[in-house]
Amino acid sequence: MIPGARLIILGRQGAGKGTQCVRLSRHYVVPHISTGDMLRAAVREGTELGLQAKKVMDEGGLVGDDIMIGVVEERLAKPDADSRGYILDGFPRTVAQAQALDEITVAKPVNAAIDLDVPREIVLDRLSARRVCRDCGTNYTATGDEPSPWNCDVCGGDVEQRADDTPEAVDRRLDLYEEQTSPLKEYFTSRGVLTVVNGVGHPDHVFKRLIDAIESLR
Ligand code: ADP
Ligand code: ZN
Repeated sequence: MIPGARLIILGRQGAGKGTQCVRLSRHYVVPHISTGDMLRAAVREGTELGLQAKKVMDEGGLVGDDIMIGVVEERLAKPDADSRGYILDGFPRTVAQAQALDEITVAKPVNAAIDLDVPREIVLDRLSARRVCRDCGTNYTATGDEPSPWNCDVCGGDVEQRADDTPEAVDRRLDLYEEQTSPLKEYFTSRGVLTVVNGVGHPDHVFKRLIDAIESLR
């Protein structure tokens, strides 16, 4: 990969974005910047940002554009992201965020926006089985036989269902995705940087498709 890979990964909730982004960030040795993880950390730490975001997140809403843009601008300015690039996961989620990102990255524009495509019917099943480590954010899929909470293989933390993976919040998030985030596909297409990757199948196969798509951009 070209040094300074700057990638945006789009895709519905439950498309497996988080897991694939972690793998991509290891593969290309660039930071994985997940706005969801950053917000959950802020909630745990009880920071001002966390206090502002918690209620919106639990209801499956979107945190305000101005707040999110500030968070991302600050993160992208850090030396690791500035010099090596990044895998941006969960941002932008609205056209206003995408426009702000264009301005923030005007000196070093993103190389590609990849839409990890998984149909709504499929993500619905995955989201109800999704569990996450509250300490390190590793995602798991529950089979139903596990104790609750169970212990994370990576860090030993508690693995539980996310507060926003209730059926109501999931519906709301998926609706908001169609309304607010889907238009980004057109936005990035018009800029000539959108690539669609089929996200259905074994995670290893999906990962290979992602790498192939990214490599073919070089
Ligand atoms: P998911 O993709 O499953 O919704 P994330 O972990 O990406 O989960 O985000 C969790 C929540 O954090 C979102 O439902 C939303 O409330 C908030 N959030 C994360 N990123 C953004 C963003 N770019 N703009 C607005 N809200 C965001
Ligand atoms: Zn963990």
